[in-house]
Amino acid sequence: MTEPTAPCGITIITAFELKPDKLESLVQQFAEHYSISAYSVTHEVDPALIGGFVIYSGGFRYDNSVRGQLERISRKIRSTDRDPDDSDVGDEEISDNEAVRDSLMRAIQAFEEAPAALFERESLIPDRTGNDRDTSGSVWDGIKVEEVGRVISVSDGVAFVEGIDNCMYGETVLFGSSAFGIALNLEKDRVGVVLLGDLDEVVEGSVCRRTRKTVEVPVGSALLGRVIDPLGQPIDGKGVLRTTKYRPIESPAPGIIDRCPVNVPLQTGITVIDALTPIGRGQRELLIGDRQTGKTAVALDAIINQRGKDVLCVYVAIGQKMSTIAKLVQTLEKHSALSYTVIVAAAASEQASMQYIAPYAGCAVAEYFMYNKHRDVLIVYDDLTKHAQAYRAISLLLRRPPGREAYPGDVFYIHSRLLERAANMDSCCGGGSITALPIIETQGGDISAYIPTNVISITDGQIYLESELFFSGQRPAVNVGLSVSRVGGAAQTQAMKKLAGPLRINLAQAREMAAFAQFGSDLDESTQLQLKRGEILGEVLKQPQYEPLSTEEQVVILYLATAEKMLFLKKEDVREYAFSFLRRVRVMHPEVLEEISETGTLSDGVKHRLDEYEIDHRAVYTAEHREYGEKE
Ligand code: ATP
Ligand code: MG
Repeated sequence: MTEPTAPCGITIITAFELKPDKLESLVQQFAEHYSISAYSVTHEVDPALIGGFVIYSGGFRYDNSVRGQLERISRKIRSTDRDPDDSDVGDEEISDNEAVRDSLMRAIQAFEEAPAALFERESLIPDRTGNDRDTSGSVWDGIKVEEVGRVISVSDGVAFVEGIDNCMYGETVLFGSSAFGIALNLEKDRVGVVLLGDLDEVVEGSVCRRTRKTVEVPVGSALLGRVIDPLGQPIDGKGVLRTTKYRPIESPAPGIIDRCPVNVPLQTGITVIDALTPIGRGQRELLIGDRQTGKTAVALDAIINQRGKDVLCVYVAIGQKMSTIAKLVQTLEKHSALSYTVIVAAAASEQASMQYIAPYAGCAVAEYFMYNKHRDVLIVYDDLTKHAQAYRAISLLLRRPPGREAYPGDVFYIHSRLLERAANMDSCCGGGSITALPIIETQGGDISAYIPTNVISITDGQIYLESELFFSGQRPAVNVGLSVSRVGGAAQTQAMKKLAGPLRINLAQAREMAAFAQFGSDLDESTQLQLKRGEILGEVLKQPQYEPLSTEEQVVILYLATAEKMLFLKKEDVREYAFSFLRRVRVMHPEVLEEISETGTLSDGVKHRLDEYEIDHRAVYTAEHREYGEKE
C-alpha cells in the first residue's frame, strides 16, 4: 500500500472527556493499525454514544460505542434470521413473542461473545482500500467499520452524496435511523440516491452509510390475504406480518435451462380470452387499452377465477388512488379471492421511488412462492405506464438525459428485466411458474407509442381492449383482430382449440361484412347469414364482471354458437337462450360437463348428446315464449 502523503484527517468522538495522553495513545494505536503515517486529529464529545468511541477517517466510520452496539442488537432483533432460501419449517406458525425472545437471546449471546460479530456479512470489514479483509488479532479488528458519506444536496426525493466511493448500483444507503434510499447514479465524485421512507430526516450535510445490501421485502405464506407497501410494511391494519423470510426485490431471471415451454393453461374464466387469446402458466400477456376500458376488470376476473385452482395471486397497484385499491380489496374479499392473494400497493400519493420499486417487490413475493414452494403464481402489474412515468420522474431528477417522449434510454430495460422474471420452471428445478399480466394504458387507442410498443415486444402477446367496443356494450371489449397470444395455444385443451378455429374465422368474416354492409341495403342471403353469425358470436362472448365460466361451460356455449343452433333467435335473445341452455345442462346433465372437463375433448358422442338436449331446450323455450307472447 502506498503511504498517503497529505495528512489524513481523524475525527474521534468519545462519550466522555478523555485525558490528552489517553486520547493520544488511542489515536496512535488506530494510526498504527491502519498504517497512517501523517494525520491531524479532531476530538469531540458526544454523550449520546453512552460509552466507547467512534472514529471517522478516510470515508469510513469505525464504531466502538455502546450506542452502536445497542443499535445493532435492535436491528438484529427486527430482522431475526434473514435467510431468503432456508427451509420453510413453521412458516406461518411463528408467534411474535417467541421470535423476539429467541433472537434477543441470540443477540445477547453474540454481544457477550464478540461485540462486532453480530452480522456475519458485516464481520468481513473493509480495510482502507475498500477490500474485504478477515478479522483477526488486535483490538481494532473487533470494531464495526462502515463506509460513510455526506449529503451534498437533496431535493424532490433525490439526494446527491459524496463519499461512499465503493457503493454498488442498486445498493441501499442508510441516512440516520429510519430514512434510506437506493443508489441509482454512480458518478465520478458523487452518488445519486433515490430516497425511500422518511424524507424529513435527510438534509444537506447529514451523514449516510453503505449497507452492502439491496432492498429486501418480507415474503412467505403469511402475506396471503394482506396488503403491503413496496417496502413490505402492512397497510391493511391487520397487524404485523408473521414471517421471518426476506427476499431482495431485484434478482436475476431464471436461465434457459431452468425453464420449460408453457404447457398448462391459466384459465381467466373469460370466454373470449380463454378461446381466442389463451394464456398458459408462465406466460406474459399484456392487457392494453385506453382508460376505463375494463383492463383491471379482466385482471380481477382472472384472479377471482383462480379460486380452488391451486394458483396464488399477487396484485401490484402502481399509482392508483387509495380508494380504488380499497375497493379492489373489498371485491376480492367478497368473492373469497383474498385468501390466496397478496396486494402490493404504491398509491398515487406515494413518492415516485416507491412506485418504481413496487413491481419488483411484488415479483419478489411471487418468486418466493415459485422457487421455494414450487407453486403456480399469477401476478398482475396495474399498471406499467405509471411505473414508467415514475421512473421518468426519478431519472429526470437524477439529471439523466431525456430521450424519446422524455423517457430515459433504459426504460426498456426496467420492464424487460421485470417481465423476464416470469417463467414456467422445469420439473428438474421442482416446477412452479409465474404468469404475468402487465397492464398498459394507451392514449386515444395509440398502441404505437413508446411504452406500449416496448411492452408489446417484451410480452408473449397482448389483449387489446377498445373504448369503442366498450361503449357499444361489447364487454369485455376485446378487439379480437389486434389481440394475440403467441404461446398460450400450446396449453389450450383440445375441445377449446377445435371450437376457437371457426370462431376466429367467423368473427373476422362478420367484421369485414359489417363494414361493407353499412353502405348497402339489399344484402344477399349468404352475407346476411355471415352477419347473423357474427352477431350471435358477439353476443355469447359478452360477459358480465365477476362471473367467470369454467372451461367446460365455455365449450358448451361456444359449441352452441358455432354449430349455428341459434340462427332463429333475435339478437337480444341470444344470451338468454344460451345461458338458460347452460343452466339446463348444469342441472339435468352434469355428466356431460364432467366428461368435457376430464377428457379435455369434445367427442362426437358429447356433441350428439348436446344436440339432443338442445332440441328439448328449444321446444321448452319456444313454448314458454309463445305463452309469454300471448299473455302480452
Ligand atoms: P382505468 O384506466 O381507470 O384503470 P380500467 O381500464 O382498468 O380503467 P376498469 O376499472 O376495469 O377499467 O373498468 C371500468 C368500468 O367498466 C368499471 O366501472 C367496471 O365495473 C366496468 N366494467 C368492466 N368490465 C365490465 C364488464 N365485463 N361488464 C360490465 N361492466 C364492466
Ligand atoms: Mg384500472
